[in-house]
Amino acid sequence: MAKSKLKIMSILRARCPACHSGHVLKGVFLIRPSCLRCHYNFYPEPGFYLGAMVVGFLLTAILTVPPMIVLKVLNVDPILLVLFPFAEFIFVGTFIIFYSRILWLHLEYQMTSRLNEGENKK
Ligand SMILES: [Zn+2]
Repeated sequence: MAKSKLKIMSILRARCPACHSGHVLKGVFLIRPSCLRCHYNFYPEPGFYLGAMVVGFLLTAILTVPPMIVLKVLNVDPILLVLFPFAEFIFVGTFIIFYSRILWLHLEYQMTSRLNEGENKK
């Protein structure tokens, strides 16, 4: 339980998936080449963060479809149904783009950390 809480806090605070203490970001949006503490490689291959688009799509679908179903069930104005996704993306779009990359990095670490221990370190 404490380990999963540590992982969630690591994702929310944009920390390294390996050591949970090094900062993933350099500035606001740039991702560092590697962790400053444990030297975990944040760019294991060219185009690595293209997979974050899939995570971003899933986050967008999760945050958009259920509220729209609720709005439809509540029989709100159709104009509101059309405007809701646009308004939502204005407010949470930046966070979705940001956290989709962090989530993708953590997912990749979870899937491959046992397979190639030590290979991701430079
Ligand atoms: Zn680290």
